[in-house]
Amino acid sequence: MRVGIDIGGTKIVMGLVDESGAVLARERFLTQKDRGYEDVLSRVIQGVEGMIQRHGVALGPLTRIGCASAGQIDPETGRIFFSPNLSWRDVPLKEDLAAGLKGPVLVENDVNAATYGEWRFGLKGGPRHAVGIFIGTGIGGGLILDGRLYRGFSGVAAELGHITLNPLGYRCNCGNRGCFEAYCGGSYVVRRVQSRLNEGYRGKLWDIIEGDIEGLNTGHIEAAWMAGDDLCRKVWDEVILYFGLALQSIANLLNPEVIICGGGVVNGANNLLGEAVGVMDKIVMPASRDGLRVEKATLGDDATILGVSFIED
Ligand SMILES: [Zn+2]
Repeated sequence: MRVGIDIGGTKIVMGLVDESGAVLARERFLTQKDRGYEDVLSRVIQGVEGMIQRHGVALGPLTRIGCASAGQIDPETGRIFFSPNLSWRDVPLKEDLAAGLKGPVLVENDVNAATYGEWRFGLKGGPRHAVGIFIGTGIGGGLILDGRLYRGFSGVAAELGHITLNPLGYRCNCGNRGCFEAYCGGSYVVRRVQSRLNEGYRGKLWDIIEGDIEGLNTGHIEAAWMAGDDLCRKVWDEVILYFGLALQSIANLLNPEVIICGGGVVNGANNLLGEAVGVMDKIVMPASRDGLRVEKATLGDDATILGVSFIED
């Protein structure tokens, strides 16, 4: 038996997983990150103890306690250098979990874990080269190269959201301009449209959201794009274009067999992936396109739980 934990900015999800990769139990609770690292840590430890007890499993025989978290993580020590989502700086997460749970703990970046989970348990055909792109409020990436998770020289590889697609483009939270994330990250896209709505823009979008500017999401923007709303045609065309440019760069650089796309923006849209692939197809090198599949992620929350339970140490 294994335990997989996913500590996100708003919720913590954990699962009990058997050796075949079946998730036997899932629990979720709020992160309440404002209460601080120590508080989150102690609730994670209690949560794991409670979950396994309820299923008649003891801590001792667990093969792995995997914990995924957003942020940059030292793969050697399991320390989190910096996690903006959780407001953690240099915390010894692996050491603290191992001390609290007395088991074999592995700490991994959440998008690396999700990519690994989708690759190993979600994809058909066992491809040896796959790239994960997860577009939610921001954008994260993961790389499976030659059948292994690729972490890079110091463990922070696959920051796909921060490849520069336009040096004169929109400002990104990382401080640069024109990152993939600044063009396609959900919070950026929504903010651009909300600011126009707050300035008085109406159009077809207004009817779709029934005047609820705060409740706007990228699904509404795509729906308005399809309905021919002027603002959303501009904004969503740009999302499609830049998503396609990113796919093209990734395909040309890495020649993966599969690009797995997930996250709220991809899942909340009907045509985004197909449209972006259409952009890629016009500009990608034919040899890089040959045989490449671009697919939606299929496992949801379980991808991270499974990935962090099985990823190689
Ligand atoms: Zn950036």
